[in-house]
Amino acid sequence: MNYTNNILNLVKEKYPAQLEFHQAVREVVESLVPILNRYNKYQKNAILERLVIPDREIYFRVTWTDDEGKIQVNRACRIEFNAAIGPYKGGLRFHPSVNPGIIKFLGFEQIFKNSLTTLAIGGGKGGSDFDPKGKSEGEIMRFCQAFMNELYRHIGANTDVPAGDIGVGGREIGYLFGQYRKLTNRFDGVLTGKALNWGGSLARTEATGYGCVYFAQEMLKEINETLEGKTCVVSGSGNVAIYTIEKLQQLGAKPVTISDQKGMIYDESGIDLVLLKDIKEVRRASLEEYAKEKKSAKYTSIKDYPQGINPVWHIPCFAAFPSATQNELNVNDAKALLKNGCKCVSEGANMPSTIEAVHEFINAKICYGPGKAANAGGVAVSGLEMAQNASMTPWSFEYTDKKLHQIMENIFSNASETAKEFGVKGNLVAGANIAGFRKVADAMIDQGVL
Ligand code: NDP
Repeated sequence: MNYTNNILNLVKEKYPAQLEFHQAVREVVESLVPILNRYNKYQKNAILERLVIPDREIYFRVTWTDDEGKIQVNRACRIEFNAAIGPYKGGLRFHPSVNPGIIKFLGFEQIFKNSLTTLAIGGGKGGSDFDPKGKSEGEIMRFCQAFMNELYRHIGANTDVPAGDIGVGGREIGYLFGQYRKLTNRFDGVLTGKALNWGGSLARTEATGYGCVYFAQEMLKEINETLEGKTCVVSGSGNVAIYTIEKLQQLGAKPVTISDQKGMIYDESGIDLVLLKDIKEVRRASLEEYAKEKKSAKYTSIKDYPQGINPVWHIPCFAAFPSATQNELNVNDAKALLKNGCKCVSEGANMPSTIEAVHEFINAKICYGPGKAANAGGVAVSGLEMAQNASMTPWSFEYTDKKLHQIMENIFSNASETAKEFGVKGNLVAGANIAGFRKVADAMIDQGVL
C-alpha cells in the first residue's frame, strides 16, 4: 500500500540511524493495511504521519559524581509520543545500549499497548545510557537524583507518568520519586512502581510476568490446551522473567531456562525460584552462581553461544516466554522452536522477536502473543496504581490481580475479535495493532488538527 510505504520512507528519511524504531513502525503500519483500506479518514487526517513523530522529544545531560569523586556524564531522554487518550505513560530504561532509536521504538509500541489496556493512558518512554551494573548504592542514588533534576519539570500525575523498565526497579523508582518530591514539594502519583508503604500498588511487581502467562492461557484455551505439566522456556532473569516463572509454577508448568547478559541456565529439573530471586533480587549477581549452587543446572556463557543463535530457544518446549530484551529471538531460533514442537509464544519483553521470526510463528499458526498485547499487564497495573493514588485507597493483592486477569482476558478477546473483523483471523499482531490504533486514531480525529 502506497500510504504505509510512504510512512516507512518518511521515518527512515527523518531518523536514518534509528533501526529499532524503523522495525517497530514497519510491524505496526504493515498490519494496519486492512483498517486503512476500509476507512479513508485515517489517511485524510494524516494520522500515521502524526503518530510516527512524537509530540515532544526531550534530550538532556545527567552529571553526577562517582565514589572516587570523579564527575561522570550520561545522556538521557524522555520521549512523549502521544497523549490523545491520557497522560503519557511508559517506563524508564537505564542500560548502556540506550539510544534515541531504542527509546523511540519502545515509546511508539507503548501508544498501542496502553490503548489496548482500555485505561486512559497515552504513550511515552525514556531512559539513559547509564549502566547500573557494578555501581554502589550511593552512585545509583546520585545518578537517579541528577536524572530527576531535569526530568521533574516535564512530568506530572496528569501530564506524564514514568515507571520502571530494564535497569529501573523499585530501588531506582524510590530515589527518583524522593528527588521529585524534594524539588516540587508535592506528593503525587508522578511515578508508578512505587513501594507499598508510600503509594505503590500490590501486584505491580508481579503484573507483567503474571499477565503474560494469563495471556498465554487465553491463547491456549482456543486450542483446548493448558500449561499444566508442560515444559516451558523463559529468557531473562529480571522482573518479567521471575514473575512469569512464578505464575507458570503456580499453574503446574515446568520452566527450565533463564538467561542474563552473560549467559543462560538450563535446569532440567525446573528453575529454583527461591534461588533465582536471591541471586537477582538480593545479591544482584550473575547466573553463574545459580549453576554453582544447583547441581542439576547447566550454565552456558554467552561467549560460547553458537553464532546467530540464542540457545534458550533450542531447548524443546511446549511454550516460550521471551522476557529479556528486543531482538533476542531471530528466524533461526523461531524455526528451532517450531521444529521442536513449541505451540505457544507469549512475549514478556518488548519486540523480542525479529520481524522474520514473527512471520514464522504466524505462518505456522501457533499461539503467538506479541509483546504489546501479552506484556501489557505491567502498564495496566501501573494504571491501576494511578487510580489508587488518585482515590487515596489502596486495593488488596487479590482484587488487583483479579483486575489484571480481567484486563488480560479483555486484551486477548479484543485483539482476537478485531483480527476476525478485519479478515485476519488468528493473527494477534494485526488484531492488537488495529484495535490499539483505532482507539487512539479516533481520539485524535475527535480532538482536531494538533
Ligand atoms: P530487568 O532489568 O528487571 O531484567 C532484564 C533481564 O534481561 C535481566 O536478566 C538482564 O540481564 C537481561 N538483559 C537485559 N539486556 C539484555 C541483553 N542485551 N541481552 C541479554 N539479556 C539482557 O528488566 P525487566 O524484566 O523489567 O524487562 C525485561 C523486558 O520486559 C524488557 O524488554 C522490557 O521493556 C519489558 N517489559 C517490562 C515491563 C515491566 O513491567 N518491568 C513491562 C512491559 C515490558 P542481567 O541480569 O545480566 O542484567
